[in-house]
Amino acid sequence: MSIRENIEGIQARIAAACARVGRNPAEVRLVAVSKTKPATLIEEAAAAGQRLFGENYVQEFADKTEQVRAPVEWHFIGALQSNKVKYLRGKVTMIHSLDRLSLAEEINRQWAKLDRPVDVLLEVNLGDESSKAGTGAEEAIELVRRVAELPFLRLRGLMALPPWLDDPEEVRPYFRRLREVARRIEALNIPGVSMAELSMGMSNDFEVAIEEGATLVRVGTAIFGGRG
Ligand SMILES: *Cc1c(COP(=O)(O)O)cnc(C)c1O
Repeated sequence: MSIRENIEGIQARIAAACARVGRNPAEVRLVAVSKTKPATLIEEAAAAGQRLFGENYVQEFADKTEQVRAPVEWHFIGALQSNKVKYLRGKVTMIHSLDRLSLAEEINRQWAKLDRPVDVLLEVNLGDESSKAGTGAEEAIELVRRVAELPFLRLRGLMALPPWLDDPEEVRPYFRRLREVARRIEALNIPGVSMAELSMGMSNDFEVAIEEGATLVRVGTAIFGGRG
C-alpha cells in the first residue's frame, strides 16, 4: 500500500470511530509520526494531503526541517532535554512531551525571544510501571499551576503514552484515566489553562483513543510502515 492509501484508510477509520460515538471528525487531527523516516516520505505524505507531522528526536528533526519543502506543520512528541529546546524554537507549533517545570521554564525562555507563545501538552504517566516518561497524575495539578504562570506557554491539554498492548481494548482504561485527569484539571478553572486537547492513541489503538475523546492521534507505523 502507498502512503496515500494508508493515510486515506486511516482517515476513514478516524471518521468511523467518530461516528460510533457521535463525534465530529473535524475534532480529531492526525499527527503523522515520521521519526526515522526520510524527508522524501514526508514529502510523499504531504502530497497526499497530510499537513501535521510529529517528530521525536531533536537532531533528526533539525535535519529534516532543512530538507522538507512542502508547507507542513510540526509537533514535537519525544523526550526533550532542556538544552535542546532552542533547536525547536519557532519551528514547532506544539510540544506534547512537557513533563517537568525546568523544561517548561526553558521553553518559556526560548519562545520569549520570539515574543509569542507556543502550545504545550502535559505528558502524564498513568501509572504504567514500564514507562518513566510523564508527570504523575497527582503532581500534574501542581505542574499545571506553575505552567499557567509562564507567559510564553499555552497549556492546551494532556498527552499520554500508555503501554503497548496487543489488544487495544486493554488500553482503553488508560485513555479513560487521561480524560478523567483532564476533567479534574479543567474543573479547577485555572486562568490560561485549557484542556481542549487529548493527545492519545497510536497505530494499534487510535480508534479506541478516539472513542475515549482523543483530539490528536499520533500514528507512525500505519502510515509509513515499520521502523526496522
Ligand atoms: C513512535 C511514536 C508514536 C507512533 O507509534 P506507531 O505505533 O508507529 O504509530 C506515537 N507517539 C509517540 C510518542 C511515539 O514515540
